[in-house]
Amino acid sequence: MKTRIQILLKDKPIGSTVSVAGWIRTRRDTGDFSFLEVNDGSCLANIQVIASQELKNYTSEVRQLTTGCSVSIRGELKESPAKGQDVEIHAAEVVVVGQADPETYPLQKKRHSLEFLRELCHLRPRTNALGAVARVRSRLSYGVHQFFHEKGFLQVHTPIITTSDCEGAGEMFQVGSSSENGKEQHFFGRSAGLTVSGQLQAEVYALSLGDVYTFGPTFRAENSNTSRHLAEFWMVEPEMPFCDLKGNMQIAEMLLKYLLEDVMNNCAEDLNLFDKFIEKGLLSKLSGVVDNKFAHATYTDAVDILSKAEKMFEFPVEWGVDLQSEHERYLAEEVFNCPLIVTDYPAVIKPFYMRVNDGGKTVAAMDILLPGIGEIAGGSQREERLEVLKSRMVEAQIDIEEYNWYLDLRRYGTAPHSGFGLGFERLVQFVTGMKNIREVIPFPRTPGSAPC
Ligand code: ATP
Ligand code: MN
Repeated sequence: MKTRIQILLKDKPIGSTVSVAGWIRTRRDTGDFSFLEVNDGSCLANIQVIASQELKNYTSEVRQLTTGCSVSIRGELKESPAKGQDVEIHAAEVVVVGQADPETYPLQKKRHSLEFLRELCHLRPRTNALGAVARVRSRLSYGVHQFFHEKGFLQVHTPIITTSDCEGAGEMFQVGSSSENGKEQHFFGRSAGLTVSGQLQAEVYALSLGDVYTFGPTFRAENSNTSRHLAEFWMVEPEMPFCDLKGNMQIAEMLLKYLLEDVMNNCAEDLNLFDKFIEKGLLSKLSGVVDNKFAHATYTDAVDILSKAEKMFEFPVEWGVDLQSEHERYLAEEVFNCPLIVTDYPAVIKPFYMRVNDGGKTVAAMDILLPGIGEIAGGSQREERLEVLKSRMVEAQIDIEEYNWYLDLRRYGTAPHSGFGLGFERLVQFVTGMKNIREVIPFPRTPGSAPC
């Protein structure tokens, strides 16, 4: 049985025989033995293997090993005299499983730029930085499920193929439609697309089962080639009945703090690497978020602050226009210098399902803005009043017939309810300090690019 290196380093059963398998990072030779640094991806640390000339394949194979070769090793775990590591393996057997031609293997010992590595999506997880991102991403995903399950939420698998374009704006990738002999064919009997949000379906389950969440891939055909947008990304979307905007804000803040604390407790080694090489001060930024209350401003307050700001913005600000990323970042970074929740946006710039506030000019919307990232989550209290919802749909020129099922939720046992969508990659960006979103998803899909 192979032991993952991470487990081995934790338990340290000194003197026992252990087996590990992984990839060679480096080989160093002395007169009659070699040091092999082996990494199996379970943690940042390598395990040092001492391979002596007693091994029967020492000259023929071990001494030929190069970076990237795969090996399977059996040996005795011993305390290590070397500094920076507690244990090492004295090999009784080194099986060379796979070669990696040093003439062509692209990941040599030196540090490669993240841009270069993007061209190598199939090999980049073998590097320290991208391996660490993968582990942190996995932990955060686990944390999402853990948080909601601890709080009694049910997970709902909302569909990937949908017929409701929840956000509008034609950002949906079409599926199942084709044209044959000039005639349109629809596989699903009508036009359908890849989901842009699981919210509307999550609402169905929330209004039957109570607190629910969905966490899955989301697709947007938006042609924005930025460092924060992907055509395929993952979104965490809780939906809570009998919950107003205030409760929504509280859950969002609790979730973010929980996830940061959990990842700091469980991925300390990886986060240290990011703090050192990717974003100086990352760790204190993260603990600052955990320890302090999020700021809150209404949209109207925010516009007021922005219009008095000394800073020159590319997009002018006035009441009634949507905040741009430059405004969001200015507020979170320079004005509040902490996570900021902006609420109560003008109704005209927000989707039909957001609850209309008294007076009718604004809706119970909320965006969560993080320093360095801008918007990480957007949500709202949903409109639970049938007539108000209908008139908002008419205004937005939405076909009411198509959404009869959604209106039924207001006809039969309606209840105030709230939820939000949190962009999972933006969260991974915030936690790792990665400037470009293409680094935090294994196989990024962006306009003009879909490797592997
Ligand atoms: P933005 O204004 O940043 O484009 P949005 O307002 O269109 O985002 P929402 O529809 O509110 O986004 O989606 C909820 C969350 O999903 C956002 O807060 C963001 O974290 C994330 N998100 C939205 N679009 C993308 C995308 N193209 N790539 C990655 N994450 C995204
Ligand atoms: Mn939004």
